[in-house]
Amino acid sequence: MKRKLRMGMVGGGKDAFIGAVHRIAANMDGKIELVCGAFSINPAVNKESAEELFIPQDRCYANFEEMITKERELPEGERMDFLTIVTPNFVHYAPAKMALENGFNVVIEKPMTISLEEAISLKEAVERTGKTLCLTHTYSGYPLVKQAKAMVQEGYFGKIRKIVVEYPQGWLSQLTEREGNAGAAWRTDPKKSGRSLAMGDIGTHAAHLAEYVTGLKIQEVCADLTSFVEGRTLDDDGSVLLRFENGAKGVLMASQISAGEENALRIRIYGEKGGLEWANEDPNNLIIKMTGQPRQLFRTGNAYQAPFTLSSFATHNTRIPAGHPEGLLESFANIYRNFALTVSAKLEGRAPTAEELDFPNVDDGVRGMAFIETVVNNNESNEKWTKFVL
Ligand code: NAD
Repeated sequence: MKRKLRMGMVGGGKDAFIGAVHRIAANMDGKIELVCGAFSINPAVNKESAEELFIPQDRCYANFEEMITKERELPEGERMDFLTIVTPNFVHYAPAKMALENGFNVVIEKPMTISLEEAISLKEAVERTGKTLCLTHTYSGYPLVKQAKAMVQEGYFGKIRKIVVEYPQGWLSQLTEREGNAGAAWRTDPKKSGRSLAMGDIGTHAAHLAEYVTGLKIQEVCADLTSFVEGRTLDDDGSVLLRFENGAKGVLMASQISAGEENALRIRIYGEKGGLEWANEDPNNLIIKMTGQPRQLFRTGNAYQAPFTLSSFATHNTRIPAGHPEGLLESFANIYRNFALTVSAKLEGRAPTAEELDFPNVDDGVRGMAFIETVVNNNESNEKWTKFVL
């Protein structure tokens, strides 16, 4: 590919949280440039954000409809290649569908939509248009998460029996949505967030991580959701028992009222011969626990010798020598880089490699929405187990 990919953005203005992280991640490898945006629902903030990002006035659009329509009219050598959608959940589906149908690739935040129906419709649009959709399940970009996946895949631990994944946060322990916290306000509003708060916002990250690392699909759930903070209707805490497709069992916890916690996502996986442990707050360590052996510690970026060699997926997603910490921004950038490599390969008429295709896609988005549906349905019913709705 002889040029950078051109990126447009909806949401992510000065009034937003995650949009800036996307821009850093997209910039990290020099393969992408931001060329246009509709950055905020507030026109003044939209304009100021564009100015701060050195986006020319004629590429700062009033809304995503205008952006997609006008970008499409530009010459091929100028128009954006893909649209990044970093708006609240209820403003994901419409821009994604319109972008795909107008010939643009899409990067979209999780949860992919606010309903399973919308998610299925997006999958249909991706298949019909042949465009690429990347879903930013941030934590699957870490090198040692990829190493864990490779070791599970090669049978290092034997048949997988038990998966324990937890994502406790504390930032919604109080009624912050009434104290001017815009991010909390839309997340706790079912019309803007969808049927779930904690399970949608962070439970989907945990479920994706469990399925990504083990390669096993969740088949049934038994859920207990609670809205602890008075004045809130959606769940701010939940525990879910999981049944996976090969008979493996799991426990998933997602909580935003775990007071004092930051982003303590952690996964433990146990097979017949041993297990592994990885945590977001210590992402350059992968602990391996094998029966009858001392504990082993895999570290990011080392040139280990066989049989401990780091997988090609781990090394492909590592940028700097061992001991220099790589973190969330790099993990996020890995998702962007693999997406960009895939889109570039398609533009060049080349088949992307397995490493390049290694980013969450529309199928993961549909499974995420099915996870929310199934968990909420189970919680609202009296049945003990509910089959995954897909
Ligand atoms: P936020 O409230 O901080 O920002 C939302 C932005 O969207 C604001 O700039 C707002 O003005 C803009 N916006 C709202 N409606 C718009 C519209 N119709 N047109 C244009 N802009 C519009 O929200 P956030 O925390 O940045 O979350 C955004 C999305 O990212 C959510 O779907 C959330 O679940 C997801 N998210 C993902 C991660 C992750 O780890 N991958 C982390 C945080 C948030």
